[in-house]
Amino acid sequence: MKIHWFFSGLLSTLSIFAIALSAEAAKLQSWQFSQSQNQLTFTTDEPVQPTVQLLQNPVRVVIDLPNTELERRRIKENLDGIIDEIQVRRMDDNVARIVIELEEDYTLDPSQVLVRGTNPTTWSIQLPRPQRAPETSRRSRRSDEQGTPIQVTPFVEAATVQSVALTADGQGLMIQTDRPVTNYTSGWDQTTASYQIRLSKAKLARGLGSPTLSPNGPLLRLRSQQVGEDVVISLQPAPGVRLGDVTQQNQTLSLAFSGRAQRQFTPGDRAASRTFPPLNQLPNVASKRVVVAIDPGHGGRDPGAVGIGGLRETDIVLDVSLQVQALLQQQGVQVVMTRQDDREIDLEPRVVTANRASADLFVSIHANAISMSRPDVNGVETYHYGSGGGEELADILLQSILEATNLNSRGVKEARFYVLRRTNMPASLVEVGFVTGAQDAPKLATEEFRTLLAQAITRGILQYVIENF
Ligand SMILES: [Zn+2]
Repeated sequence: MKIHWFFSGLLSTLSIFAIALSAEAAKLQSWQFSQSQNQLTFTTDEPVQPTVQLLQNPVRVVIDLPNTELERRRIKENLDGIIDEIQVRRMDDNVARIVIELEEDYTLDPSQVLVRGTNPTTWSIQLPRPQRAPETSRRSRRSDEQGTPIQVTPFVEAATVQSVALTADGQGLMIQTDRPVTNYTSGWDQTTASYQIRLSKAKLARGLGSPTLSPNGPLLRLRSQQVGEDVVISLQPAPGVRLGDVTQQNQTLSLAFSGRAQRQFTPGDRAASRTFPPLNQLPNVASKRVVVAIDPGHGGRDPGAVGIGGLRETDIVLDVSLQVQALLQQQGVQVVMTRQDDREIDLEPRVVTANRASADLFVSIHANAISMSRPDVNGVETYHYGSGGGEELADILLQSILEATNLNSRGVKEARFYVLRRTNMPASLVEVGFVTGAQDAPKLATEEFRTLLAQAITRGILQYVIENF
C-alpha cells in the first residue's frame, strides 16, 4: 500500500503560506488506498466536511473537500485492480477532489459506500465489491456529471457525563453533559428489572460518583456505567413512584417522577400499586444471592381442604409450589422446599427447614375452603404475622396474583399461623382460592390456571427481592 504525503518535507514553509492565504483553509496531508480492503483513508490538518457522490461514465466515486489545499495541482495513482485509478486534484474553487475510478464495465452500489469520520481530521471511504455493470447501462457513453449523493457520517465527539443527580425537589433526575448528547434511548430492561437510559457516544467524567440516595427517596438504586462507547444509567424507582419520559434540553437530560415514594410500608399503603413485568418476562435476580423457602401446605394423610368434585388442596398446592420452585430457580434464586411430594409433614419441621437454611423469605402456599353450602365465597387472600417484611411480602404477592388472574380479592390479613410466627425471616401464607367456591374451583382444577398462579407468586417474590435485597 502506498501512502501519499503532501507536506512532509515542506511543512514549515507551507504552513506560513497557508496562514497568509487563508487562516481557515485545511490541507490534505495524506491519503492511501488499500486494494485488499477496498478502502480509501485520508487526513487533513484541520477538520473538513467532505461531500461524496457517485458519477457515471466512467463510474467513479468523487470526494470533494471544500476549502482544502493541495501541494500539487494533480496527483494520480494507477492501480491494476477493478479500481482503476485514483486521482487527487485541485478544483478552481479551492476544493480538493479525490476521484476513485472503476475499470470500464464495472459499477458499484452507492448505498453500500460507507463514508465515516474516524476522528475530526481523518475519514475513511469503504467501497463495496464492484459489480459487472448490466449491458443496458454500458451503452450510454455520455459523461454524466449529475451524481448520486452518498451519505457521509461525520465524526461525533463523545459527550462527557459530568453529573447524574436528583433535582432539588426530588421529583426528577438530571443528567448533565459537556455537550448535547446526539442520541439516547430509555426504557425498562427486563433482565435487570431496572429502568435504563442509554446515552450513545458518551463517557463518564473521571471520578463521577453515585449520589447518596435517601431511604425514603424516590429511587431505590441509581447506577451509571460505561458500556462500550455508551453510558448506561440504570435506576429502580421506589414503590409508588412512576417515571415520566426522558427529555433533552441542550446539555441536560431530564427524567421526571410522579407519585410519592412508599418505601416505608404501612398498612395504609396497601393500595401502593406496582408495575409488574409480564409473566413471561420475569427478572433474573441471581446477583442478589437469595434463598427462598417454599412451603406447600398439607400432604400425605392430610389432604387439606376437599372441595367441589373432590378437588384436594394438597394436590393443588404441591403442583403450584413445584412450579414456583422451578420458576424461581430459573431466575437465579436458591429454593428450599419443605416438601416435594405427597407426604405428611408437621408444622414444626417446616419452620426448622426454613430457619436452618437461613432462608431470606418464606412463602407457604395453601388453598382455601368454607362449607360446601357456600359456593358463593371465592377469592384470594394473603397472610402475614406482625408488621415489617412479611406484611410487605403479603401485599406484593396479593397484588401480583390479582394482576395476573381475575380472582376476587379478599385482601391482606394478619393471622397467628405457626409457620408465620416461628420463621425467622419475612413470611407470608397465600390462600390461592376456594376449592369450595363455584368460581374458583373449576379454575384451580386446571393445569393452565395453576401455572398462572405459580408465575404470579414467583413474580411477587422476585419483586420483593428486587425492592429489598
Ligand atoms: Zn391449607
